[in-house]
Parts: sequence; structure tokens; C-alpha cells
Amino acid sequence: MRSFPEVITSVAEMKQWRRSKTGLVGFVPTMGALHAGHETLLKKIRSRCDFSILSIFVNPAQFRPHEDLSKYPRNFEKDFETAKQAEVDLIFAPTSTELYPPNFSTFAEETSISQPLCGQYRPGHFRGVATIVLKLFQLIQPQIALFGLKDAQQFFIIDRMVRDLHLDVRIEGVPTLREKDGLARSSRNIYLSPEEREKAPQLYQALLTIQKKIEEQPCLHPIDPLLEESLQLLKKYGFKIEYLECLSLPEFKSFVSPLQNPAPGIIAAAVYLGQTRLIDNIILYPQKLLDRGFHFIS
Ligand code: AMP
Repeated sequence: MRSFPEVITSVAEMKQWRRSKTGLVGFVPTMGALHAGHETLLKKIRSRCDFSILSIFVNPAQFRPHEDLSKYPRNFEKDFETAKQAEVDLIFAPTSTELYPPNFSTFAEETSISQPLCGQYRPGHFRGVATIVLKLFQLIQPQIALFGLKDAQQFFIIDRMVRDLHLDVRIEGVPTLREKDGLARSSRNIYLSPEEREKAPQLYQALLTIQKKIEEQPCLHPIDPLLEESLQLLKKYGFKIEYLECLSLPEFKSFVSPLQNPAPGIIAAAVYLGQTRLIDNIILYPQKLLDRGFHFIS
């Protein structure tokens, strides 16, 4: 086991490091506050590549003014320990001014599948995500990059960007790591009060119920009535619903699925418990997406 990961904070050093390496470079971009979900990604990339790189950067471009970037949890020492345990070779942890100097004015934007769901409620968020990921890809030039399917819309947007811009990196999606009671692991879960934490797994239960209904009956018409019961139940538990929708994949359009030929789709939700925003999703018939060139690893 390596004794500790190297840490680089400047763009110039990052470029220099990359120029000095040959072999397979794997990359996991994060905003830090690492938990077991991130660890899964790090261990997977370590086992696949000659060099594994973790980036830690709380990206201001993907936060809206009222979303309070300054409150996002940060703990570099703990993240460093996690990276060390996962045998990461390099942590790239640049400062904001390093990546966004004062005259910065160029952005990357996916303009179709980034519109619904989180795109509708967080305008500009995915533009910020696509921009930072493109910048990091440019600096790190990984051959493989892993993204969690907990942020499934993000995964499909990055995959689309890579195809559209002919980038030489293979994007792989990793299934969501959950707590024993089903709650998706998230850096934001620490903000849940004990009562909210107890309620939180109901979100995943609602998605599972919808999945069961969809898999039991053909969906040849708008799916809203099928979602309504779960929506009301979540409201009763005290969730404030931002969205609960089922859309087609990879288009993120209206979902229609004949039973004899089920179509891939996503049941996705964003909710608030108190002040904490939780997102979760279930992908329907993911194997059909493998046939269309998407990469998921278990
Ligand atoms: P974040 O720093 O939380 O934005 O996440 C960095 C990466 O970790 C993203 O690709 C996320 O989708 C992924 N990730 C976050 N939580 C989980 C989880 N519970 N299971 C799997 N991947 C996750």
C-alpha cells in the first residue's frame, strides 16, 4: 500500500504531473466530504488503472446565489485519510481562483437533456457541472472517469458532452450506494435531524413502489396518475416535493413503455426534508442502455 497520495493544488503542477505519466489514468471528480459512496468509486478506479486521481473541488459555478456554497461541508484531512485508504495516487484540490481566474468567461453547456428535472429547478447548475468536468478532463486527461448514478442526470449529461465534443474518455456509471434502510448515501445527509433521518428512506420506498407498478403494467399513456399516489404519500410524511417524474432514457422525454418491449427510463425525485435537499432515482431496464453504448459497472 502507498503511504500517502500526492496532493496538487495548482493547474501548472497538474499539467506537469500529467505530462510525466504514461499508462492508464482513472479519474473520480468530487466536491469532497467523502463518504462510503465516493469510496466505492475510488476503489473501483484504483483496481482498473495504473494511476487513480481524485479531484476535490467545491465548484462555485454549479451553485446558485441562494444555494449557499459556503455551507457545503468541507473536511480535507478526513478526505485525505479516505483517499489514502482507497490507495488513490493523486488528489487534485485546486483553489477557486486557480480554476476561475477573474477574467474567466467560457462555459460548456449541454442544451437538451439538462433541461428537465434538476435543470428546471437549478438553472445554470448543469452548465457549471459540464464546465468544471470539461476543465478537469482537459487538465487530467483521464482515459476512464467514474460517475455515480445517484446523480443520474449528471451522468447522462457528461456522457452526452463526451460524445458531442469527441473527448477521449470512457464514462462509466456506478450504482448508488445506500444505507441499510435504502437511503442513498450523500454528503448532505449529515444535515438531517434524527426525525428527518428516520423519514428519509421513504423516498427510495416510493421510487421502488413506482418501479413495481411500471414493471407490472404497460405505460402507453402519460405516467402522471401512476406517480400521484406516491407523491401524496410522500407529502403526508412531510416531504416537500420539488419533482417526482418518470422520463425516457437517454432522452429525458415523456416515458412510454409497452410491456412486450419495455423501454429504458428513469424515475427521479428531488425533495426537501426541512432545509435538506435529497435526490434519488431508479433506472428502469438499464441493460437496454448497455446495448446503446452506455457503460455501467456494478
Ligand atoms: P459529489 O462530490 O457528492 O458531487 O459526488 C462525486 C461523485 O460521487 C459523483 O459522481 C456522485 O454521483 C458520486 N456519488 C455521490 N454519492 C454517491 C452514492 N451514494 N453512491 C454512488 N456514487 C455516489
